[in-house]
Amino acid sequence: MQTTILIALGSNRRHGRHGPPARVVAAAIEALAAAGLEVVRVSPILATAPLGPGSRHYANAVAAVASDLALPAVLALLQRIERHFGRRRGRRWGDRVLDLDILGAGAAVWRQGKLQVPHPRLAERRFVLDPLVTVAPGWRHPQLHLTVRQLRARALRPNAASVASRRKGP
Ligand code: ATP
Ligand code: CA
Ligand code: CA
Repeated sequence: MQTTILIALGSNRRHGRHGPPARVVAAAIEALAAAGLEVVRVSPILATAPLGPGSRHYANAVAAVASDLALPAVLALLQRIERHFGRRRGRRWGDRVLDLDILGAGAAVWRQGKLQVPHPRLAERRFVLDPLVTVAPGWRHPQLHLTVRQLRARALRPNAASVASRRKGP
């Protein structure tokens, strides 16, 4: 059965042939299609400030793809593309030429081996939610029960937690 899978793309290193991160992301979207995933929608490619030990700016995007592969097979395919772009396993959140993550797939909840879907950190990441809202604003997170539009609005609110705790006070 075909499902729609939401994939996050990120790069913060130049690629010898493709060039700067935004071009790496554009080439990676073509690689998804070449690998047999039907690319249904693509967000704009956005520039994002670095996160963690990485020192360079990121290019980030989200693609919605249709496939009848099971999610572990999709992850294996994404990791093959990462390796093809020269990604080496290294420091987490460090500089990398290409990072491909599965964000979600309809109502699927998956926690098996090394794969967790929906991606456990998607709701707190502007660099994911900003492109994701352009591709799938109405996708409902099957564990948080909020749409992407709602998750992003929540992430944009300053001090969301302290507002909530004030409301509970006297
Ligand atoms: P983060 O997960 O916080 O975005 P990262 O993308 O830098 O960090 P990686 O080093 O690329 O982390 O991946 C670490 C492992 O995460 C991978 O080996 C993979 O098996 C696992 N993983 C678990 N869930 C997912 C998912 N939904 N999409 C991609 N990889 C996942
Ligand atoms: Ca990631
Ligand atoms: Ca990853």
